Amino acid sequence: MGDGSGKCANVVRLLVGYLEHQLPPDVHADLEQHLSGCPRCITQLKTYQCTVSLLHSVREEDLPPELRFTLKSFIDRKCRN
Ligand SMILES: [Zn+2]
Repeated sequence: MGDGSGKCANVVRLLVGYLEHQLPPDVHADLEQHLSGCPRCITQLKTYQCTVSLLHSVREEDLPPELRFTLKSFIDRKCRN
């Protein structure tokens, strides 16, 4: 708490890599440490998990690029507040 929104914005940017297990181990550990003390980012993670599984369940050709962008900016904005 109180460590600023910059860190949280950074976490949001890393969530995709985190969920796909593509982060370097030290970044992964750092992110997990932040998540353990930041309920807001855990909510973001769950939202992102839903979004990712939703995106994976939809065929790419059925998904307009604007929708991906809208979801991303919605999640980004939510974390900053
Ligand atoms: Zn956070």
